[in-house]
Amino acid sequence: MNFNVAVIPGDGIGPEIVSEAKKVLDKVGSKFGHEFTYKEVLMGGVSIDAHGVPLTDEALETARKSDAVLLGAVGGRVGVDSWYKLPPNLRPEAGLLAIRKGLGLFANLRPAYLYDELKSACPLKESIADAGFDMVVVRELTGGLYFGERKTEEVNGVMTAVDTLTYNEEEIRRIAVKGFEIAMKRGKKVTSVDKANVLDSSRLWQKVVAEVAKDYPEVTLENMLVDNCAMQLVKDPAQFDVILTENMFGDILSDEASMITGSIGMLPSASLAAGKFGLYEPSHGAAPDIAGKNIANPLATILSAAMMLRYSFDLDKEADAVEEAVRQVLKDGIRTVDIMSEGMQQVTCQGMGDAICERI
Ligand code: NAD
Repeated sequence: MNFNVAVIPGDGIGPEIVSEAKKVLDKVGSKFGHEFTYKEVLMGGVSIDAHGVPLTDEALETARKSDAVLLGAVGGRVGVDSWYKLPPNLRPEAGLLAIRKGLGLFANLRPAYLYDELKSACPLKESIADAGFDMVVVRELTGGLYFGERKTEEVNGVMTAVDTLTYNEEEIRRIAVKGFEIAMKRGKKVTSVDKANVLDSSRLWQKVVAEVAKDYPEVTLENMLVDNCAMQLVKDPAQFDVILTENMFGDILSDEASMITGSIGMLPSASLAAGKFGLYEPSHGAAPDIAGKNIANPLATILSAAMMLRYSFDLDKEADAVEEAVRQVLKDGIRTVDIMSEGMQQVTCQGMGDAICERI
């Protein structure tokens, strides 16, 4: 099959890591008989330098017309690079918000997986790390507290700030459907996280999620309060498969889930729209401190490309092959400098891309 991928290398290490992910996609293509056609899109600092804005309408349109988007990272040294003298809406990171909005990306997926070989980086105690974990946080991305009405005003002589948390049943239903669809491709368990003992929006959340669950009889649904979930993530992370939650809870829990893997260069992510369209990017930033040195870890981006194969192109076998190659590389002791330990073989960013391709 033929797939059109909009590629946004971005800034910092972005071009280096995206180039390795493309190399891996091409290897998948030749092995499994697919063709990936790439259209490069400027976003972030490089777009500011070329066009004065972090994302042009043309760039957004190119992304919209593609089957999926692969993004490296955007941004530079805050307070050092000239981009940060611009007003906030013209800085590199504003491109991220613009593209998420422009492409209607409402579901954010952040997997957290503990590799046997990297267990020593896990900050949890050994008995918990030994059980391993393999979960994905599915977070609603365009509603809730971050998008509600807000104001700060003086009320009876006292400064008072108000933020509003609103969800309607349609917003909840579409993210719940994504959560259950993803569970069907994984361990068939959804933990829906809310604060239904306090919040009306959470009670509506629970009701709608329970309705959606009826369409997925193979998937086990459990409800968990967000405070309990924060505790369970460090006490017994092995219990989770899909954590389905609203915007703010997901913001916090997905960072907590990332942290317990201990290795930022390994964490992929996806943001999905209605249908199969999605934008795939590593969870880390543009790492300007190591840009251009060919030492960045490309695995988070390569694993993001694997997510693209699975969720946008329905190529599960091909995604498995990439994920298995990553496991095999780690088993074979091949490491970039950020995950290097004694007795292992250190490789460059390109060297890691090559090592993955050899194992596909
Ligand atoms: P960062 O993730 O870029 O870097 C944090 C630390 O992790 C750095 O020491 C970096 O060298 C290291 N690191 C990150 N990715 C790595 C990789 N693949 N291999 C090896 N080491 C890696 O976070 P930051 O320093 O807070 O932000 C730097 C810039 O990136 C800022 O301009 C920020 O706004 C931007 N940023 C962009 C995104 C995005 O594009 N989605 C996300 C976060 C930050």
